[in-house]
Amino acid sequence: MRFNPVLRDIASYEAGKPIELVVREYGIKREDIIKLASNENPYGTSPKVLQSIRPEDMSLYPDDSYYELKDGLAAHYGVEAQNIIIGSGSDQIIEFCIHTLHKEGLKILHAGVTFAMYGIYAKLYGAQVLKTPDNTHNLAQFLESYQTHKPDIIFLCVPNNPLGECLESNQIEDFLTHIDSDTLVVIDGAYQEYAAYKDSAKCISPARFIAKYPNVLYLGTFSKAYGLGGMRVGYGIAQKDIITALHKVRAPFNITTLSLQAAISALKDQEFIHACIQKNFEQMTRYEEFATANGIEFIPSYTNFITYHGTRIQSSKLCQWLLERGVIVRDLASYSLNAFRITIGTKEQNDRIFALLQEYLGQ
Ligand SMILES: *Cc1c(COP(=O)(O)O)cnc(C)c1O
Repeated sequence: MRFNPVLRDIASYEAGKPIELVVREYGIKREDIIKLASNENPYGTSPKVLQSIRPEDMSLYPDDSYYELKDGLAAHYGVEAQNIIIGSGSDQIIEFCIHTLHKEGLKILHAGVTFAMYGIYAKLYGAQVLKTPDNTHNLAQFLESYQTHKPDIIFLCVPNNPLGECLESNQIEDFLTHIDSDTLVVIDGAYQEYAAYKDSAKCISPARFIAKYPNVLYLGTFSKAYGLGGMRVGYGIAQKDIITALHKVRAPFNITTLSLQAAISALKDQEFIHACIQKNFEQMTRYEEFATANGIEFIPSYTNFITYHGTRIQSSKLCQWLLERGVIVRDLASYSLNAFRITIGTKEQNDRIFALLQEYLGQ
């Protein structure tokens, strides 16, 4: 078979290891496994959402206009429904935007270490992927690279996965004034709910950005704070002409009937989200204290995960050791980093993580 030659250059996305795999490979009981590898909400899905979904509707296609969900998002963000596109996860909208701008010689620019899907989709379309020298977001470097290479799309991950740092809204605004309107700037806000809670200077208002900049596309998702990772719902917010173009590459019914029901009710239960985020940062403090007490380095995080690094750990060895004990975290060796990312779990989950890490460091 002669496959598309661009595939040679692409490593498949390394998803967090599923619980089922650990059950099979290590014979650990399902209920003893802790998965803190994919930044899912450890408190699960809001009970109100669980009550709102109607499995008996499964035989029906969803309302493909996604009217009610767009209406809810429009009210939540202070934009119009025509400024919104719904994706099967915001992942799918990343693909849509590369597809939409696709041309010979397409170039994208992103931070040295960031969400892998920007590069994977770009390469699929034969695009050239440029990275800034720093791992974390450095806007001076973004600007320099922009001026030299004139990329077609710039991805800003705010806050950044997998490192956790976060640009400020004002810095991004200043950056945008230097960018021509024919370069698309994607602001990926997958963890914005967390960042906005921790520091209001990091809070991005999509309404404000799209009103001022015709080249900004904001991405949000129901997979993280909203506790719907398994339902696959994300959204993009931009001026109408970008949304119209993105809709042309979207297949009908790209989210499911039950996903749509769940997202509509999840958006209404802000109380649940707020409580989860509050607990997240209470537990985050424990991770910071543990690291400091044990000589582990970390990057202050504006998300629901923390990245540990430094000479006290050898990330691949440590992640394997944890896996054999039923704990799944995310090794960042695939980014050529001696670091690993842990999703902040519930108090009980974190107690077990600290006990295991203590044991590992002590041996
Ligand atoms: C999780 C994540 C997404 C999207 O996830 P979906 O489940 O596809 O909505 C997008 N960007 C970043 C940085 C993420 O961490």
